[in-house]
Amino acid sequence: MRCLYCSERKTEVTNSRGIARGAIIWRRRHCAACDKTFTTRETPIGDNLFVIKRNGSRQRFVYEKFFASMYNVIHAGKNRDSGNAAKIAKKVTQAVLEQIFMNTKGKNVPTRKIIELSYTELRKIHRASAFAYGTHSAYRSKSLTQIGLMV
Ligand SMILES: [Zn+2]
Repeated sequence: MRCLYCSERKTEVTNSRGIARGAIIWRRRHCAACDKTFTTRETPIGDNLFVIKRNGSRQRFVYEKFFASMYNVIHAGKNRDSGNAAKIAKKVTQAVLEQIFMNTKGKNVPTRKIIELSYTELRKIHRASAFAYGTHSAYRSKSLTQIGLMV
């Protein structure tokens, strides 16, 4: 990876760590040319996946859209600190993505499956938001608007 500071082509990885649960890796990089260090993070983005909507249409999965909709659900729950909401949204969406890879054969994922997994992960990671999301509302149209249709 190029150096962020001086664009030197070659940077050296001086440290890396994965987290116990999750397909995320942080790398600390050092540039010998300008002697600066920076950190990068490698996470899956699921760009090979396709979302099958309730009306049967098929759309390429876009991680940023998924993150934004999850963030909105968590942030809308309470007057929550936006940085905290973003961290929770990141955790939940990464966990859901990993579940999608493990549980779906092929690359087509129904919206319903994404909502199901989102609710399950939200409940594990941030119970209050899951409660706000609604125990029995996972398949209601309101929730589909919040998460499903925005995925
Ligand atoms: Zn540099």
